[in-house]
Amino acid sequence: MTFVDVPPDRRRQHDPSAQQGAGEAPVFTFLLVKLASRCNIACTYCYWFRDADVYKKPAVFTVEAESAFCEKLEQHINEFQLENFMVVFHGGEPLLFPKRRFVKLQESLAGIEERTGCVIDRGVCTNGILIDDEWVEIFCKYDIGVSISIDGPPDIHDAQRVDFKGQGTHADVIAGLKRVRAAGIEPGLITVCNPATDPERILSYIVDELGFERFDILPPDASHLDKPPPIDAYFIKLFDVWYDRYAARGVRISTLDAMIQGLMGDAAVSDTIGLGPIETVTLMSDGTLEPLDVLRIVGDGSTRTDVSVFRDSLQDIQKDFRWRAAYDASLRLCDTCKQCEFMDACGGGHLAQRWSAERGFDNPSVYCASWMNIFNHIWKRISPTLVLDFNTGAADKSSTAAP
Ligand code: SF4
Ligand code: SF4
Repeated sequence: MTFVDVPPDRRRQHDPSAQQGAGEAPVFTFLLVKLASRCNIACTYCYWFRDADVYKKPAVFTVEAESAFCEKLEQHINEFQLENFMVVFHGGEPLLFPKRRFVKLQESLAGIEERTGCVIDRGVCTNGILIDDEWVEIFCKYDIGVSISIDGPPDIHDAQRVDFKGQGTHADVIAGLKRVRAAGIEPGLITVCNPATDPERILSYIVDELGFERFDILPPDASHLDKPPPIDAYFIKLFDVWYDRYAARGVRISTLDAMIQGLMGDAAVSDTIGLGPIETVTLMSDGTLEPLDVLRIVGDGSTRTDVSVFRDSLQDIQKDFRWRAAYDASLRLCDTCKQCEFMDACGGGHLAQRWSAERGFDNPSVYCASWMNIFNHIWKRISPTLVLDFNTGAADKSSTAAP
């Protein structure tokens, strides 16, 4: 699972001039903190453990790294006079981090807020299994947003999200979900698509049975080193079922929203798809800073850097060639994508999808043929509903909310 539930306003808006090359490096206002390098389950599609480097990292965020991080975060906030910052706790499974230390970390962050006046929003991305009443109390006390991964009804979820004995985890995840909801927290929900399954069943389960109105469905992580099955039939049916049956009820799927916004000429604000800079910084459990963590699917040590909160400032990660390569590549598409009619909406797919051993990031997405079919289909369905404003030349977007 790679999704990070970051509010759209935390992402840079698409700057068309960025196609010419990397612009001025951004000041970070968002950090992915790896509280644990290990996980309590073994999902079949997991990106994290595809990189043997993660086994060399401490199992949980060390006390020393935590202290150096808090110091560097406060310096960063002061240096750039930040009013807001966002920290997402991630893993592995972040709830393997001891609760006592998690509370202490929240108190440290609260102290930084008090001294700097900067609001530090916090979220956790979890598989949900370890959520107990104590965790729920902590989430409530420190106002921590929660995102849980559920891949659909039991048979679909349990085929891929399994424990170390190969047993499904669905029942335990649902128990965790119920606990947070009982405390009044409405979590985010992340689903990874299995193209061999029926998206109609997924939608019916997530919306009609679990009662979610906003969530995301992501393609499996893959690069050109993999040979992933096509995802077009899945996403086309997902779109049709959503558009015909759920859109008018206010149900929103972030990836579909981003695709439609992109087709309408707006900035597509999704981790999955769309043109825009990748600025993500990942803090590992040993205090090293890395680029976007999912890029590790391209090989062992592929996101490794020497930048560390013990020596360097948070902003120093920009000097690292790997972070810089990812950032620059997110702004420079290959020639095929530059000539594509869906360039703005697709942006070459997710950055990791563009990687090949021969050409690095200089490729269309490994899902390119699928994205083309999906965008063509969505455009065919929404374009008859658009109303052109002859004063501005813009399409009236309100007409696309529902058929
Ligand atoms: S819960 Fe996340 S980190 Fe753990 S195995 Fe599954 S995808 Fe990997
Ligand atoms: S559809 Fe293919 S060619 Fe077009 S932008 Fe996406 S990846 Fe590039």
